[in-house]
Amino acid sequence: MKIHQVYTASELRNFTYLIELENRSAIAIDPWDEAVVNKLLSENQLSLKAIINTHEHWDHIQGNPALVAQHGCEVWAHENGWGKIPGLSRTLVAGERIALDTDMELQVLDTPGHTFAHLCFLLLEQSQIKAVFTGDTLFSAGVGHCRSGDAQALYQTISEQFHRLPDEVLVYPGHEYLENNLRFTLSLEPGNVNAQTWLKRAVESDPTVEPIITCIGDERLFNSFFRLDSADIRERLDCLTATDQQVFIALRSLRDNW
Ligand SMILES: [Zn+2]
Repeated sequence: MKIHQVYTASELRNFTYLIELENRSAIAIDPWDEAVVNKLLSENQLSLKAIINTHEHWDHIQGNPALVAQHGCEVWAHENGWGKIPGLSRTLVAGERIALDTDMELQVLDTPGHTFAHLCFLLLEQSQIKAVFTGDTLFSAGVGHCRSGDAQALYQTISEQFHRLPDEVLVYPGHEYLENNLRFTLSLEPGNVNAQTWLKRAVESDPTVEPIITCIGDERLFNSFFRLDSADIRERLDCLTATDQQVFIALRSLRDNW
């Protein structure tokens, strides 16, 4: 099994993923367009078995119609995606496991907040969590906006489903926003040495050559939405005695207008 992470260089800096399986089939996650998927399929001599959409926003589904027409593949997504996700043929529910190669599986997480049709996917190897595909729920150093969702629901998703993940779990997000998100972190915590170090790396990197991948342990160090007990963040938000949920919602609101 191999994971192809493709930076699309689109205006919204989307990532598309292709999971290559040993039997020469593949699963595409959030196809930005058909071209990016077809190029990988032909380069690696793969057939497209299914598309997974993390959620219903146009920039995560616009490759669906052409790929379904060309490959006759299935489309898997959240049940609230009916009527919104082109070609949807199978709905997935929390806890469900999708077999990949021997000992490799995807496990479905139902992750409301960014939208109410949002799924994330744990990548399991011999039932150990190795990585997580996060769509627009969790980004490197940030989280998704809640303009078509709800910040309180996103707080619950992050605190209940992501905080518990082991530090070494890799994060495969739906967009490349690392540099901008780290600048947001530093606007709140100017003395965050980890954010400073990673910002330098982000500025020097080129995602079209090799995107920077973080793990959950990194997120605990520089993702403001994982750092709700930070005195600097709480002071900046005038939330010194607020609950974590209140801090999260205030942070999300600040980020919306930042
Ligand atoms: Zn979205």
